[in-house]
Amino acid sequence: MSKKDSDYQPVYIMPEGTQRNTGKNAQRMNIMAAKLVAEAVRTTLGPKGMDKMLVNSLGEVIVTNDGVTILRDIEIEHPTAKMIVEVAKTQEDEVGDGTTTAVVIAGDLLRHAEELLDMNIHPTVIAKGYRLAADKSQKILSGMAAKLDLDDKDVLRKVAETAMTGKGAEDNKGHLSGLVIEAVLKVGRKTGNSFSLDKTDIKVEKKTGAGVAESELIQGIVLDKEKVHSSMPEQVKNARIALIDSPLEIRSLETDTKISITDPDKIQSFFDVEEAMIKRMVEKISATKANMVICQKGIDDLAQHFLAKKGVYAVRRVKKSDMEKLAKATGAKIVSDLNDFSADDLGKAGLVEQVRVGDEFMTYVRECENPKALTLLLRGATHHLVDEIARAVDDAIGDVSSAMKHGYIVAGAGASEMELSREIKKYASTLSGREQLAVQAFADALEVIPRTLAENAGLDPIDVLTELKAAHDNKKKWAGVNVFTGKITDAWEEGIIEPLKIKTQAVSSAADVAIMILRIDDIILSGKEDIPSAGKDDATTKY
Ligand code: ADP
Ligand code: MG
Repeated sequence: MSKKDSDYQPVYIMPEGTQRNTGKNAQRMNIMAAKLVAEAVRTTLGPKGMDKMLVNSLGEVIVTNDGVTILRDIEIEHPTAKMIVEVAKTQEDEVGDGTTTAVVIAGDLLRHAEELLDMNIHPTVIAKGYRLAADKSQKILSGMAAKLDLDDKDVLRKVAETAMTGKGAEDNKGHLSGLVIEAVLKVGRKTGNSFSLDKTDIKVEKKTGAGVAESELIQGIVLDKEKVHSSMPEQVKNARIALIDSPLEIRSLETDTKISITDPDKIQSFFDVEEAMIKRMVEKISATKANMVICQKGIDDLAQHFLAKKGVYAVRRVKKSDMEKLAKATGAKIVSDLNDFSADDLGKAGLVEQVRVGDEFMTYVRECENPKALTLLLRGATHHLVDEIARAVDDAIGDVSSAMKHGYIVAGAGASEMELSREIKKYASTLSGREQLAVQAFADALEVIPRTLAENAGLDPIDVLTELKAAHDNKKKWAGVNVFTGKITDAWEEGIIEPLKIKTQAVSSAADVAIMILRIDDIILSGKEDIPSAGKDDATTKY
C-alpha cells in the first residue's frame, strides 16, 4: 500500500517565524543594504563634503564629517550593513583616516557587481575578478607611491593639512598641523629608517572657552584635576614627582567591618595608631624629597594635611592611563608599595601648576625634559567644535604616523584612485571572458572617489571625470580635482598628500567586504525579536 502526499508531515528544519531569503533575492537585499550605508556617508567625502548632525537617544548632538563617527553612531541594525560599518572601523584602527573613502568604494564595488549580476554573470566569477583586481591594486599603488623622507617636515605638514582640509579645523590647520607634527616627532621612535608611534602617547585634551588658535602642545601631561588641599602650593618649580598607584589612606578595614571598643581610652589610641600610620606613609614619601604626589587612588584628609604642611602639591584619583602617560613624560616609576620607594623612582618636570581653564581647575605637569608622552590641548568656542577638531586632529595624527611608519606617500584629490583605475583597466585587457568584465567593473568603481569629490563640490562629475581621464592618459599621474577651483590640477604640486597606507587599506578592505557579500546566497533570520548581530568575528556565520 503506497502513501499519499498528504500522509506526510511537513518537515521543518528551522523554528517557526524564521525568515529566509535565498539566491538572487538574498544578493539583491545585501547589495541594497551596503549601498544604503555608502550613500549615507558619501556626501561627507572631501573638503567640500557636508556635515551630518547626529542626535542619539539621549538627545546628545554630534555634528561631524567623519565617516566612522557617523556609522558608529547611527546604530545600524541590518546585518549586511553592519559588515560595511566594520570596514570603516578597520580603516580607523589601521590608519586612522580614510573611513569614508573605504565605505564609498565598497558601495560602488557592489553597485557595479549588481550590473554584472543583471548580465547573468555568476557571483563567484565576479568575486574572483574582484580578488584579482584587489591583489593587483596593492602592487600598482605601491609602484606609484613616492618614498617619504622622514626628516622632511614640509611634506609631513602637507600630510597633516590634507587630513584636516574641510573639517572644523580648516581655519587653523596651519597651526594645528604644526602641533601634530611636533607631537608625533617627539613621542615617535625613529630608528634608522623605521618609525613607530603609540598613538596613546599623545594625550588629546579638549577644553572650551578659548579660540582654536590657542590650542597648544604641552611638554608633559595635563590632568583634569585640582590639587587636593587649598593650602598646597599653586606652583612647583623643578618638580620631583612621585607616582603612586596605591591609596594614601588606611584601607585595611573592609567597609562593613565592626570594631567594638569597650574602653573609651582605646578610641583615642585607635585614632593615634591610624594617624601614626598615615604619618609614616607621608614620611616615606618626603624622604625621597618628592614635592609632587600623583595618586591613582584616594588620599585621606589627614594625609592631605601632612602633605600640604610639607609644601607638596598632590592630586588624587588619576586615571590609570594618565598614570602611564605621566610615567613616560616625567620618567617616573609607578610605585605600589611605599616600603620599596626611593628617590630613583621619582620623575621630573620643570613646572607643575594649577591653572584655571574655563571654569575648572586643571593641573599642568609641563616642561618635562624629553617627554615620551605629551598633551595636545585643544581649545574652541563650543563642545561641538572642539569635538570635531579633535576628530580632525586624530585623523592628522593617524595620517602623519602612518606615512612615517610605512614610509610611502601618494597624492590625494582623486589622483591616486584615478591612476589606479587606469592601470587596472590596462590589466583587465590582458584577461579574457567574464573575469575581464569583473576586473573592468572594479576599475570603474574606483572612479567613485574623484566623482564624489566633484559632486560634493557642486561640479559636473561627467566633465570632471572626462578631463581627469584625459590628464591621466597624458601621463599626469597625480592629476586630481581641485575642489576649490573646479579645475584639474596636479595634486602633488598642490600639496594634497596622503599616506599610501590609506589607499591600500581602503581598497583591500572594500574589496574584501564586497567579495564576502557577493558570496552570500542565503539569509536566514531567526524569528526571535533580537536578530543575531553580525558581530566582528562571526559576520558570515551567524545568520
Ligand atoms: P575620509 O574619511 O575618507 O578621509 P574625507 O572627508 O577626509 O574622507 O575626504 C578625503 C578625500 O578628500 C581624499 O580623497 C582626499 O584626497 C581628498 N582631499 C583632501 N584635501 C583635498 C583638497 N584640498 N582638494 C581635493 N581633494 C582633497
Ligand atoms: Mg579624512
